[in-house]
Amino acid sequence: MARALVWFRRDLRVADNPALHHACASKPDGVIAVFVMTPQQWLQHDDAPVKVDFWMRNLASLSGKLAKLNIPLLIETKKTFEDSAKAIVRLAKKHECSTVYWNREYEVNESARDRSTEKILSKAGVTVQQFHDRVIVPPEEIETKDGRFYSVYTPYRKVWDTKFVDRLDVLAKPRKQKPIDVAADPVPEKVAGFNFNGVRSDLWQEGENQASRRLQAFAQHINAYGTDRDVPSVNGTSLLSPYLAAGVISPSQCVTAVLAACQNKLVKESGPGVWVSEITWRDFYAHVMVGFPRVSMNQPFKSKTLGVPWRSDADDLAAWKSGMTGYPIVDAGMRQLNQTGWMHNRLRMVTAMFLTKNLLIDWRLGERYFMQNLVDGDLAANNGGWQWSASTGTDAVPYFRIFNPFSQSKRFDPDGKFIKRFCPELESVPARQLHNVDKFVAAASGLDYPRYIVDYKEGRERALAAFKSLG
Ligand code: FAD
Repeated sequence: MARALVWFRRDLRVADNPALHHACASKPDGVIAVFVMTPQQWLQHDDAPVKVDFWMRNLASLSGKLAKLNIPLLIETKKTFEDSAKAIVRLAKKHECSTVYWNREYEVNESARDRSTEKILSKAGVTVQQFHDRVIVPPEEIETKDGRFYSVYTPYRKVWDTKFVDRLDVLAKPRKQKPIDVAADPVPEKVAGFNFNGVRSDLWQEGENQASRRLQAFAQHINAYGTDRDVPSVNGTSLLSPYLAAGVISPSQCVTAVLAACQNKLVKESGPGVWVSEITWRDFYAHVMVGFPRVSMNQPFKSKTLGVPWRSDADDLAAWKSGMTGYPIVDAGMRQLNQTGWMHNRLRMVTAMFLTKNLLIDWRLGERYFMQNLVDGDLAANNGGWQWSASTGTDAVPYFRIFNPFSQSKRFDPDGKFIKRFCPELESVPARQLHNVDKFVAAASGLDYPRYIVDYKEGRERALAAFKSLG
């Protein structure tokens, strides 16, 4: 019993993968890898078809890389997380593995699954080795002076800054293992319950090499990130979120590359500095999710906001989802999501705030729609972004600071390039008329484009009154 079993989850890579690295380094009589597909659980978690398709393609790429190390990748299909725990135990016994290795996942259901798997494994005499790879500084390693989790980013960041460099130990490539008599399973191209028709796989090419290329290409123009990152018509951000969310690349690999690009001199206000801040936000939201699990269980962080009188309006919600609100920048953002599975960060904020403030529709409905459509859907980051926009979360935007979609487009899409890419019916509207509500309504009146579904000022007043009523 000296084989090792590595359980892959959202860490679909060979490089800088602590569980795989330590399994290989333990000099076992062979290493076996496994991935458990749980389609029913994925549906319950609102995982998007575009994301599951991305997982499957990355899994195939991972299987090829593992084969070169003589590590067969087995695929198990189970309905739920509960069944997956049993599958791991059965496999460990069947293949005589004395240790199971995995990288931790922090979500509530995933943590519960891991605890119960560990319990059953230990009863069967199998050891578990767990590692952190999803974030740079593990959630529990940062705490306030009185030992609590942070709910405000700035003081969290101060502590993070003192720790992150020590955590950046990108691991060496795992060594090739002894060949073993276990055959890899084919990776399925289809998954029950998920329709991959219409998914733009071409936009999100799979594989670690692809992720590294994106990182290297981005590092070339990272100095412009501070300004370009807010302009949706420019490719000013890294577009690495799907790879980070599926673990095709690690956050340590990302930050290490950026530090190298700036010769280890990270100036906070510079492009590299601002980018590392975004990676810190990613760590922060994982920290919040672990410290305040209610946020991922459909509860606001600020309990007071449970009393917001959210409107129930199926037509307004449908118009928002389909990008037919009559607000060009909102519609362009939603259509980008629907067509590509990804949305620019500035537009995620604009569309989320529009739904929760201008339409006064419950943030949970928007959070769910994003999750059901995003290739990078990640519970902690998505929840953090939604609760920030809806003013219900940790360190959220103050409720009275409501984006005006026309001012946002004037500032971040002045020539209307992005709007016109996703709303081609507005091609003939001159840029100077796109960012002023009256001029825009006049210019678009003969076009096949909806008139706004809510008056900006009325929607704003309604939201202010709703939040003010909470006292
Ligand atoms: P870059 O600007 O290149 O940033 C680098 C990386 O940092 C990203 O890939 C991402 O992993 C992380 N990051 C950047 N901004 C944030 C942020 N505000 N919060 C947390 N991490 C961040 N990000 C997700 O990965 N998954 C989600 O489901 C998600 N949902 C969001 C929902 C809303 C309402 C909002 C406002 C933001 C959401 N974000 C989410 C954060 C952010 O919009 C995306 O990470 C970013 O747009 C991804 O593009 P990029 O890889 O080019 O980012």
